[in-house]
Parts: sequence; C-alpha cells; structure tokens
Amino acid sequence: MESGRCFANRFEDYAGRLPGEAGVESLVTATVKRVVRAVAGAGGGGGLYGGPAGVAYMLYRLSLCPLPAPRRSRYLRAARRLLEAPLRAADVEPETRAAFLLGGAGVHAALEQHEAAEQALERFRQLGPVCAPPSEDLLRGSDELFVGRSGYLCAALELKLRLGHEVLTPVQIKTVCQAILESGKQYSKKKRKPLPLMYSYYGTEYLGAAHGLSSILQMLLSYQEHLQPADRELVWQSIDFLINQEQDCNWPAELGEMIERENELVHWCHGAPGITYLFAKAYLISKKPLYLDACIRCGELTWQKGLLKKGPGICHGVAGSAYVFLLLYRLTGNSKYIYRAQRFAEFLFSEEFKAGSHTLENVYNLFEGLSGTICFLVDLLHPKQAEFPLFSIFV
Ligand SMILES: [Zn+2]
Repeated sequence: MESGRCFANRFEDYAGRLPGEAGVESLVTATVKRVVRAVAGAGGGGGLYGGPAGVAYMLYRLSLCPLPAPRRSRYLRAARRLLEAPLRAADVEPETRAAFLLGGAGVHAALEQHEAAEQALERFRQLGPVCAPPSEDLLRGSDELFVGRSGYLCAALELKLRLGHEVLTPVQIKTVCQAILESGKQYSKKKRKPLPLMYSYYGTEYLGAAHGLSSILQMLLSYQEHLQPADRELVWQSIDFLINQEQDCNWPAELGEMIERENELVHWCHGAPGITYLFAKAYLISKKPLYLDACIRCGELTWQKGLLKKGPGICHGVAGSAYVFLLLYRLTGNSKYIYRAQRFAEFLFSEEFKAGSHTLENVYNLFEGLSGTICFLVDLLHPKQAEFPLFSIFV
C-alpha cells in the first residue's frame, strides 16, 4: 500500500522463475559517469557518508569486479584524485578525526589501495587511543557507528575484509571493546534500563543501525573473541532483549516507542532493514534459527514497504532496502531474494520512481545518493559476494 514514505509494491512475487540481468551493466556504467561528473569540484568534507571519499570507495569497490583493464585504470585514477581533498581535511577537525562515516578514520580506511596505503593504515592505527577512554558524557554518546567507537571497529573490519588480515592488535581491539562495554553498562545502570548494555546519542536512545544499539552490538559480536565470557553474555542478553522489541516485523527508532503503522520507518538507518544485520551476524555465529527467522521477517516487511520515496540510496532509500534481499540470499541461498532485489533495481529506473521520489540534495553521495546505488547494482550482478557497503558481517 502506498504511503507518505513508500510507493506501493505492485510487483508480482517470485513464482520460481528468475529473469536475466539484461541491462544492469550498462546502467552501472551510465550511473558511474553521472556520479563522477556530479562530484567534480566538491570539497573534501562529508566523510564516507556524504563526501567525495564515499565516491572513491565506490570506485575502488567497482575496480575489484571483472572489468576491461582500461576501465579499471580509469576508475582507480578517479578514486585517487577524489581522495586528495578528503585526506587533506581528514585530521583537521579534532572532533571527527577518529570518526568512521563522518570523519577522518573512514577516509584513511578507504585508502587502502592507494600508493600511500601504509601511511594511511598507520594514521588509522594511531586513532585507536582517541576511541579508548570511557565516555565522559554519556548523554552525548560516543559509542555509535557514524562518529563513535563502533564506527572505528567497523572501519577496522572493512580493512580486514579488503586486506585479508587484522590491522589492529588484539590489545587495541580489546581496549576499544572494553570502552564500549563500560559505557553501555554505566548508562544502563544509571538510567535503570531493562537491558545490560544501552547507549544514547545526544540524549536519544536509538535502536537502529545509524547511531543506535543494533550496530554497536553488531560490532561487539564481530569482535566477540576479544571479550571476556561474562561480557559476551551481556552482549547476547542485549541482543535477545532487542529481538523482543519487535512490533510486527519492525523495530521502533527509539527504545520504548510505539510504531505508528502508516508512518513507520523501514530504513537501513532506522528500523528493520538495518537491524537485520545484527540478527544475521547473531545467526552466523550461533546458528540459532530464531535469528534467521527475524531476518526473514525483516525481509517480508522490506518487500512490502521498502520502495522508499526518499531516493535511491542505501541509508533511507530503495537500494538500502534491496540490500536486505541480497543479505537474505547469502543467508538462505533462496533465489526468491535475488528476484526481489532485481525488482527493486528495476523500480529504481522506473518513471514512477523518478516522478514520485524526493529530489536528491547530493547526487553522488555514498549513503543517500547514487554511489551506494551503484554498489548495490554491482552486488546484484555478483550476489554470492554481496555486502552492504562498509558494514560487513561475513568478514
Ligand atoms: Zn538514513
């Protein structure tokens, strides 16, 4: 059903037949051209989320696909050029120099294929101590994904995925995990929360992937071998508390909030499509069907309400929804999910979407604009390796 937030999904569901991928490759090529044109002349700010560094990440990612050599070199040259200004800006702001999606740490993490990669890695490692001390201001929150400690761990995971080895020492990882755990325990105790680890970001107790509990727990789970058994138990208890906050296949943006159906958020940033990555990680580790079942329910809601009007991006747009299907394909091997991802890709280039979706402030942006959409289209062509950008659970 159409609402203020999403288009009606009028596609027939999977009936056992998977159409081909005709046209996706040429859409990728044309969209890359559009993005590279749009980003020309942009300044160095915005981090991986909204600046040219995110476009460079997309181009690096594209260069890993089977491509004719001249095209690969063109993409790599463009990526290097695009990273020059963000690198100059990376360490300027003390507040965000260790931030993953909105600051310096992410820019250094994006650089690993550049000639100066070793230097960038060293800069990245040196940012660890910035994340280490326990939070002095629990209400502001410095544990979340975009600018906080979980983001630093997530950047380290991204580097591990690309380089094939851990870039931080076990002591560095443990120190950051310990700071996140302490902060969550203290907040939960001080505010008398019904779960052992809780966090807030500028006074709001978010649950979703952006700024919220789910991505913090996901990072702790990703590094669970570095946690003490008692702390690991607190992480699992918090995950099980979160899974019980479900309201009919979705999760509220904030702890304790009631979802209004006609206005519900079904985004990667807030709601089921982002929280599902935590349950997927929990399933991969524990093999317990209850976590996979939660992912499948997230997928059903996303099929119903994921044709979002906020644009083509991965944060709160159609490509972000479609990534849930690629995740479910990797978890289950069921072609139904490829079919659903294909239909969402088709919708991205439909007249209905062009006419009815919000105008983009920034066309090239990785999270809200077309760079994330390109990552999705490329992953649709290689679904066995598909991963939501910068948010790996399979590493
Ligand atoms: Zn968003």
